Amino acid sequence: MADCSYHPGKDAVGACVSCGKMVCVGCRHELNEKVFCPPCANKLFVAKADVPTYVPADPVVQRVDPKKASSMLTWGIILTVTLLIIVGIVVALFATGVLEIVE
Ligand SMILES: [Zn+2]
Ligand SMILES: [Zn+2]
Repeated sequence: MADCSYHPGKDAVGACVSCGKMVCVGCRHELNEKVFCPPCANKLFVAKADVPTYVPADPVVQRVDPKKASSMLTWGIILTVTLLIIVGIVVALFATGVLEIVE
């Protein structure tokens, strides 16, 4: 019986299908019914985790347009400030008696 490549003294229960190293029951990783050693399993997990980051066709990523978002934000601020200035002028005119509420 062969020993685990990572744990000398422990009996191997299988071999990694990727690199062929022997793995014991404690470090055996099964993915899609295939046996992998810990480093190869980690590589696969990392590769899987990276996939969504590098897909430019992802609809969520396409929807986010930083230029559009920032220009919309700028216009939102301009409109808000303009509205506040108009309200401020009207309030000031009432306060100084230039405008009066006609009943
Ligand atoms: Zn391996
Ligand atoms: Zn092991």
